[in-house]
Amino acid sequence: MPSHKATTGLLGRRSGRIVVAGGGPAAVAAVEELRALGFAGEVTVLCGESTGPYDRTACSKGLIDGAQRPSDALLAMPGGARWQLGERAVELDPDDRVVTGSSGDHYPYDGLVIATGTTTSTPEMWPADEAGVYQLRSLNDAGAVRAALRGAGRVAIVGGGLTGCELACAVTQTGRSAVVVDPHRALLQATLGERFAALVTNEHRDAGIDLVLGRSVCDLGRRRGRFRLRLSGATGKRYGLEHVDADIVVLATGQRPDTDWLAGTGFDTLDGVLCDEALRVVGGDGTVVAAGAVARWPNRWHGEEPDRCGHWIAAMEQGAAAARTLMAGEDPAIPCTVMPRFASYQGWLRIQAAGRLDLADDIRLARVRPGRHSPARSGVVATYHWEGRSIGVAAVNAPVQFSAAYRTLLAQVDEPLPSLCHPAGKTDPTRSVAPGALGEPGDADPAAGLREPVLSLAVH
Ligand SMILES: Cc1cc2nc3c(=O)[nH]c(=O)nc-3n(C[C@H](O)[C@H](O)[C@H](O)COP(=O)(O)OP(=O)(O)OC[C@H]3O[C@@H](n4cnc5c(N)ncnc54)[C@H](O)[C@@H]3O)c2cc1C
Repeated sequence: MPSHKATTGLLGRRSGRIVVAGGGPAAVAAVEELRALGFAGEVTVLCGESTGPYDRTACSKGLIDGAQRPSDALLAMPGGARWQLGERAVELDPDDRVVTGSSGDHYPYDGLVIATGTTTSTPEMWPADEAGVYQLRSLNDAGAVRAALRGAGRVAIVGGGLTGCELACAVTQTGRSAVVVDPHRALLQATLGERFAALVTNEHRDAGIDLVLGRSVCDLGRRRGRFRLRLSGATGKRYGLEHVDADIVVLATGQRPDTDWLAGTGFDTLDGVLCDEALRVVGGDGTVVAAGAVARWPNRWHGEEPDRCGHWIAAMEQGAAAARTLMAGEDPAIPCTVMPRFASYQGWLRIQAAGRLDLADDIRLARVRPGRHSPARSGVVATYHWEGRSIGVAAVNAPVQFSAAYRTLLAQVDEPLPSLCHPAGKTDPTRSVAPGALGEPGDADPAAGLREPVLSLAVH
């Protein structure tokens, strides 16, 4: 490969070539921040998806229940950058400072932002390519699931985390039945803790979602034209046959960092790419930064161990921080401190959370309207504590109380108040999706024809 190594040094200046690998919120925020800081050189974005940037969070919500069309989710592409859509970064040579794209083109850089996010984590032996078996990560995936709902009465969702719960709610809103299988005793248990998660679980059960909890799927086969998911650890009368049948199956068991293209760089990519506190990649020459769900870094809110943060807002904040670090060049850069926080819309429930919920040794729940039949639907706030210190807050259907508790939490750390809203980026009404691009031949909106409910079919 020809050497494209830049003749100039690090980016302590306002010109040069910056390559951004990725096309999600971290990449978009990095481009916007570079321009806001006055960077006047070339910015090239290698965006692996041909759709360009979009609101990925809609993939388990509005794009499934039909509240949003695919084109509603497309985000504005910040100007002042060359967007190479459908071009994946396949190789990085950090010595020569060159990224190779899937087209075979080489992209020399003076500064590189790694923002390739995550990809679906598929269990070994999972028949991911089989017709009727889906994952949920991209606009294409959402289009495929939405289209498949047409011929499906019952959908099995493997995984009861945020994505699985949102999907189950969206599926039931189309009139189909959903069954969620998860090894924990409650939905969202790993996210919210068992007691709070139990309230949300009851709400979803009351809303008609079938729950198979405390079980794992150990085998996926076919029987009489349907899928049969065999369960490990199955007990009890209802699921005594130790299986669940469904017309389609969606895997929602999590994501893993998309770092395969960094093999051979010598970077630590054990769980995302390891960075210092200002998001400079450890082992790099100072011209490479990482941002978003792919970055593992020592964030003050994560404690001492470097960790990743898989939320949308964090990705945007990291993208901007990584751009500032690149522009600082050899000067000291500001550490990137991000409070983990998210909002999740699940049927009638609006769940908000901030801080480190997973570390809590004490969770205190308070009902907003005691006496009402459904605690979750009528509002609950939970504060999370560790060794007597307040470390997190979560709420369901209690946005005002959540805001107050969130401010109290922030007052305990000497940090400026980050945004509480969900800045999905600016959607771009001028962008559209090519017909046939999202799952159905000639049908850019897989939402069409899904309003009429079908009969739900019982679990065998
Ligand atoms: C279905 C779903 C629902 C979600 N809902 C929520 C929610 O409600 N709230 C919330 O806070 N978070 C949610 N998340 C998580 C949130 O979407 C992520 O935290 C966020 O998108 C991370 O942004 P990112 O820019 O780091 O990476 P991504 O959004 O993953 O973007 C990375 C981009 O880089 C591209 N790419 C990958 N490899 C390469 C390569 N080698 N070369 C070039 N491009 C490449 C990918 O195709 C992708 O376009 C959800 C995620 C999913 C999958």
